[in-house]
Amino acid sequence: ANYLISRLSRAMETTPGKVFATRPGLPGVTYAQLFAGAQSLAQKLMLTGLQPGDRVAVQVEKTLEAVELYLGTVLAGGIFLPLNTAYTGAEMDYFITDAAPRILVCDPGRIDELAPLAGGATVFTLDKNGKGTLMTDLPDPDPAFKPVPRGADDLAAILYTSGTTGRSKGAMLSHKNLASNSESLRDLWRFTDQDVLIHALPIFHTHGLFVATNVALLAGASVVFLPKFDAEAILDAMPTSTALMGVPTFYTRLLDNPHLTLEQSRNMRLFVSGSAPLLVDTHEKWQTRTGHRILERYGMTETNMSTSNPYDGERRAGTVGLPLPGVELRIMGTHGEVAQGEIGVIEVRGDNVFQGYWQMPEKTAEELRPDGWFITGDLATRDADGYVSIVGRAKDLIITGGFNVYPKELESLIDDIPGVLESAVIGVPHRDFGEAVVAVVVKQTPDLTLEQIKTVTSRDLAKFKQPKQTLFLPELPRNTMGKVQKKALRETFEDLFS
Ligand code: ATP
Ligand code: MG
Repeated sequence: ANYLISRLSRAMETTPGKVFATRPGLPGVTYAQLFAGAQSLAQKLMLTGLQPGDRVAVQVEKTLEAVELYLGTVLAGGIFLPLNTAYTGAEMDYFITDAAPRILVCDPGRIDELAPLAGGATVFTLDKNGKGTLMTDLPDPDPAFKPVPRGADDLAAILYTSGTTGRSKGAMLSHKNLASNSESLRDLWRFTDQDVLIHALPIFHTHGLFVATNVALLAGASVVFLPKFDAEAILDAMPTSTALMGVPTFYTRLLDNPHLTLEQSRNMRLFVSGSAPLLVDTHEKWQTRTGHRILERYGMTETNMSTSNPYDGERRAGTVGLPLPGVELRIMGTHGEVAQGEIGVIEVRGDNVFQGYWQMPEKTAEELRPDGWFITGDLATRDADGYVSIVGRAKDLIITGGFNVYPKELESLIDDIPGVLESAVIGVPHRDFGEAVVAVVVKQTPDLTLEQIKTVTSRDLAKFKQPKQTLFLPELPRNTMGKVQKKALRETFEDLFS
């Protein structure tokens, strides 16, 4: 059997006529139609020469055909490799060279640029309307077709990390990695065939593909399939939907919309947030406006989801909750596990943890211990009830004159100063201190002065934490996932004190 497909296709077998997806202005698609489409694509990929274990690299807009391509690739025994639509030609060159796909599917608008980079891959196109050479001359689903057998430990996907701390790494995810995590989340978050999930996340990373899509499929639920974030479309869908999964900016942008009310969200039962920290302020405002407490969870490309706030118990703002069932979590300092309340690096172990970085054995050995513990690189504390709070990334920790400075503490303080839009605090090389604390600030109001910031930081922070220098920038450098790239900032300012 095909380990992942045999699980994802259960609802298709029991309720083939059930609607899987509705789309504003377009016909709905049933489970049977979705899987028939997936099978046709699987047959096409195999006719093109796809062998078990071959990669199918995909950089396309979000469509149901792209979801069928994901399922079709796994049905054909291949490895699905989705890529952010924002990646440039140079970035695509890196990914294609690194992953050596057998097949590349891209937007027709980019074929001239990407075809020369494709190496040995066969190139197909798929556009934002689900049309392209991938879909032409598609074979009819063959009744004799059987999913290509794949076991629990075979790879189903390679997903590249967001590249926040350095070059993106390809995380190898097995059939069992994906199935076990989505099953845990379905059960923990109580997804059933009665649910209607608003799906507005991109499907080229874990959150939209393996959390949202797989959980919906496993539960036999329906999704409102939106090509991208659209506050009005999400609000319109709420009265006939039950759940939303989003990143923190979804929630802040929805809060900016006057149509978000108690009445509008009355039919909803669950709002999930993850991928980046959700501010306590957003959590509280959301509860005031809608009566719902957002459920925050924590995960990463390499591990899928590792922790979640409880469904029934207390959802604690500013925390990412408790380890998922079947996931072990520990917080490590230099001498083993830290005491409760102390800061250390999160390590996780379980069926959710990936198989290593694609073609990076040294990097894998550095981060994945032989006994299965994965060193996440995220710093966190755990409170008396076991709730985990993320403090930042180990790579962003500043050590100045022998003291640890956690950027998030300073950033929270600076962000609260009137006139500040946002800030990033970094360490840059310094002859006496090793590293010096530098605050980079983006103004909200043009008349904000460095003096105003200094007044607050020197009043509220111990001397060693105070920025040695504060600078204004028009904006912070971000990667395609919208995450602030501190590495780029450190490089920009590496000579500040030399
Ligand atoms: P790279 O590994 O290439 O530097 P990345 O770590 O940003 O990039 P992802 O795997 O997309 O790539 O992101 C995972 C990271 O996102 C986690 O390690 C963590 O730092 C952050 N994250 C995810 N969820 C949360 C959350 N709820 N709160 C705070 N941080 C979160
Ligand atoms: Mg990472």
